Amino acid sequence: MEVYLLHYLLLQSGGQSGVWTVSVIILSIGTWVGRVGPRPADGELALLTSPRERLETVRQVLSEVPLIDGHNDLPWNIRNFLHNQLAEFDFDRDLRQVAPWSKSAWSQTDLVRLRQGMVGGQFWAAYVPCESQYLNAVQLTLEQVDLIKRLIEKYSQHMQFAASSREILEAHGRGRIASLIGVEGGHSLGSSLAVLRTLYQLGVRYLTLTHTCNTPWAKSSSVEDDDEDGGGLTTFGEMVVKEMNRLGMLIDLSHTARATMRDALRISKAPLIFSHSSAFAICNSSRNVPDDILKQLADNGGLVMVTFYNYFVKCGPQASVSDVAEHIYYIRNLIGVDHIGVGGDFDGINKTPRGLEDVSKYPELFAELLRSGKWNVLDLKKVAGLNLLRVLKQVERVRDDLRTAGITPLEDLPDSPDTIGNCALDINSVQRVTEV
Ligand SMILES: [Zn+2]
Repeated sequence: MEVYLLHYLLLQSGGQSGVWTVSVIILSIGTWVGRVGPRPADGELALLTSPRERLETVRQVLSEVPLIDGHNDLPWNIRNFLHNQLAEFDFDRDLRQVAPWSKSAWSQTDLVRLRQGMVGGQFWAAYVPCESQYLNAVQLTLEQVDLIKRLIEKYSQHMQFAASSREILEAHGRGRIASLIGVEGGHSLGSSLAVLRTLYQLGVRYLTLTHTCNTPWAKSSSVEDDDEDGGGLTTFGEMVVKEMNRLGMLIDLSHTARATMRDALRISKAPLIFSHSSAFAICNSSRNVPDDILKQLADNGGLVMVTFYNYFVKCGPQASVSDVAEHIYYIRNLIGVDHIGVGGDFDGINKTPRGLEDVSKYPELFAELLRSGKWNVLDLKKVAGLNLLRVLKQVERVRDDLRTAGITPLEDLPDSPDTIGNCALDINSVQRVTEV
C-alpha cells in the first residue's frame, strides 16, 4: 500500500505541520527504497507531487494496459534509406548511433527506445506516395506489408504480429510489442474492393481513406479547395466504407477532407478513428479535426489519436510536450476522455515537441497529464490503449453481426478508374484467342 494511500489521506486531512512531517518522512522512506508504493486505484485522482512519482505511476499503468500508438512511418524510412533490405537494418541498436539514421531528422524509432517508451502496440504504416497512384501503388503497398511482416519476424523477441483486439492483449501479456499494419492512403487500393479484401487477409487493420491526393472516390484535405463543394465520397467510396465495415477494418480519417469525414461518419456502422490528427481549434491545420467533426466522432463512438508533429500541435516549428497535452485537454473537455488516443507519427515527421523527441518519451506525455491533477489512473489507461481496444472490439462486433446477417462481399464496379488508365491493361477489352 500504502505509502501512497497514507500520504493521500494525510493530505486530505490537511493542514498541521506534524502531519506534513510524517508525510514527508514516509515519502522519503519510499523514495529511499526505490519506490513509493502502489499507484492510486483506477478511479482515484492522482495527486502525485513529484515527477518521479508521476513517472512511476505511468510505468505501472503502461505495464497493465498496452500503450497503442496509431501511426509510425518507420517502414517508409526503411524503403527510403535501405530499399527494404532488412539484412542491413539493426532495429535493436540505438539508431542515434547508426548512419544514415543518426543523420536524419526523420528517424525517431528503434527497439531500444520503443522499450524505454513502454510502447505496447504499434500500427506500422504501409505508406506509399501518391505519385504511385494509377501506376504501381498496389504493388508498392504489398511490398510495404511484406516488409513490416519480415521486420516483425526478424525481431520476434520484441515484436508480435497482431490483427485483433485479442491478439494485441496476447502480445502485451508476453512482453512483445503488438505490431499491427495500417495502409495510409486509399490510392493503395487501385480502386479495387478485391485489393481491399486481400489487404485485410494479409492482416491490414486500418485504411486511411486518403493521403495527400484525392482518390477517384474520396477527397483529401490537402487538395480541398471548397469545403462545402459536394460530397467527399463517391458511390464507390461509400462501398469502400461498407466493405471495410463488413471485413472488420478500421476506417481512418486522418488526411481526409472534411466532406469525406462527414460522409464516412454518416455511412459507417462501426466507430471511426483518426490515427494521427489533433484539434483544429488549437491549431487550424487541415490535418487536424474541427469541433463539429469531433462531436460527431464521439456520437459514433470513435477515437482521435492525438499527433505530435510541431506544425499540427502549434502550427509552427516549436512545440513542447505540454502543448500536446493541451490538445488532449481540449478534446477531453469537448467530447470526453473515451475518444482520445495517441498517434505520434514518429519517423514520419522531422520536427518533434520538446520532451517528446522520440518513441522513448511517451511516459513523459502521460506524466504531463497527471501533473494537471485532474487525471485519474483509469483516464490514463483509456488514452493509452483501452479506448483503441474498445473501438477495435466494436469494429469486430459489427463485422460479426454483418456476417450473421448474411451480408456478402460487395462486387467491384466493372469500370474501375484505375484499370482504364494508360498504364494498365484494360482487362475488359481482352479477347480470348484460339487456344492450343
Ligand atoms: Zn500521415
